[in-house]
Amino acid sequence: MALSSLVALSEVETRLLIWGCILQLKADEKFMQAAIDMARKGVFQGQTPFGACIVKDGEMISCRHNLVWESMDITAHAEICAIRDACQRLKTVDLSGCVIYSTCEPCPMCFSACHWARIEKIVYGARIEDAKQFGFNELEISNDIMKQIAGKSSQIEITSDFLRHEACELFGLWDRQDRQRVY
Ligand SMILES: [Zn+2]
Repeated sequence: MALSSLVALSEVETRLLIWGCILQLKADEKFMQAAIDMARKGVFQGQTPFGACIVKDGEMISCRHNLVWESMDITAHAEICAIRDACQRLKTVDLSGCVIYSTCEPCPMCFSACHWARIEKIVYGARIEDAKQFGFNELEISNDIMKQIAGKSSQIEITSDFLRHEACELFGLWDRQDRQRVY
């Protein structure tokens, strides 16, 4: 059955809808790739293989890699660094309307930070379980479970497994470096 007959759209509306979906997908790919590139840069600087960028109205506001070792700050996850930068840049703690692209599923701390910042949507690549496999001391609580537990108090949208394969390759790259350390 054609999409147009399902939701009573005209052919033109259906084409516009499909075209909009394609454009969104292309934008999602571009921003996730930016997060992946940033994570790779971090790996070559001795950091762990995580990157995140924050986007508002199609514009990238911040893009950071994990800084735990560089700053000796266990909370300096890529998502936290990107949220801090975005808040500074926009001069607000309210990131409503923003999307965060993270190479790995945000841990419960980062998921909570996204909630506090009122981020609208999380798009992530690798899963918490993928990071766990490489030795990171992850709390094994998925974003879906966090959202379920939060109930109506969380409106955040979640897109999982986006470019997961490419995001997972970051762990392999990191694993092949000298002096890689987990936490
Ligand atoms: Zn985190």
